[in-house]
Amino acid sequence: MVKPILIIDPGHGGSDPGGGSNKYWMEKDMNLAISLYQWKRYKELGVPAAITRKNDQTLTPIQRTKLVRESGAMYCYTNHINAGGGDGAELIHSIYGDKKMAMEISTEIRSTGQNVRRVFTRTLPNNPRRDYYYMNRDTGSVVTVIIEYGFADSKEDDIQQINKHWKRYAEAVVKGFCQFSGYPYKKPTNSKSSNPTQETTYLQLPANAESWRIYSLEAQPSKGNERGFLRPSKFGGLTYEILGSTQNHVYLIHTRDFGDVQIYAHPSTGATFSN
Ligand SMILES: [Zn+2]
Repeated sequence: MVKPILIIDPGHGGSDPGGGSNKYWMEKDMNLAISLYQWKRYKELGVPAAITRKNDQTLTPIQRTKLVRESGAMYCYTNHINAGGGDGAELIHSIYGDKKMAMEISTEIRSTGQNVRRVFTRTLPNNPRRDYYYMNRDTGSVVTVIIEYGFADSKEDDIQQINKHWKRYAEAVVKGFCQFSGYPYKKPTNSKSSNPTQETTYLQLPANAESWRIYSLEAQPSKGNERGFLRPSKFGGLTYEILGSTQNHVYLIHTRDFGDVQIYAHPSTGATFSN
């Protein structure tokens, strides 16, 4: 394998859900969804990237920082959702790295409409020569930035923004990293530019769903008639473009394994929709 330039770290995981959770998401799942999206995008863009976890796995700080140090990457960022009642994104870089990577990424996040509260460093209370956060402190020579996309307990718009637009923010970070590292950036190819008046809507199946029934177009979408099952939990959630609707709360989507199928996605099932 090519030596990665970047290693992505989905914060928390497994027995550690992360504090940036609320009734809509668990921080560990949101971090993983963002990270897997970015990982796929770097593949498309030809940016050699590694990732510390690809599923809901527990990593101790020692395991996590070792993976980063031994990855061969020059850069790392760790994806998080904040808590504490503020609103907006925050980026934390090491006192030893320069802040250029954090700044480039923050500029792109800001350009999506998400406010950036601050880009900063923090040191141990008793030692101003040591970073406060272990991802800044114990990742060796790998320049590591902590990205907090927003607050899970915001009184302002973060909860709605992250729920609806997490992919947009994830993409902004990809763009910022490409610009920082000198890799050419291209927008995702599935963004519909051919018909700008008609908004594409995406169906998101949550990461906590084990399996989801799908039906052939000829079949009545009811239990027993399944064409197959999707496995959202295996992929940290799944997202499909909605191609049409065959009846109330039943949508037409295209899946890689089953082709065009119908899916039942009443809001009560946990499915969400985004543009
Ligand atoms: Zn976190």
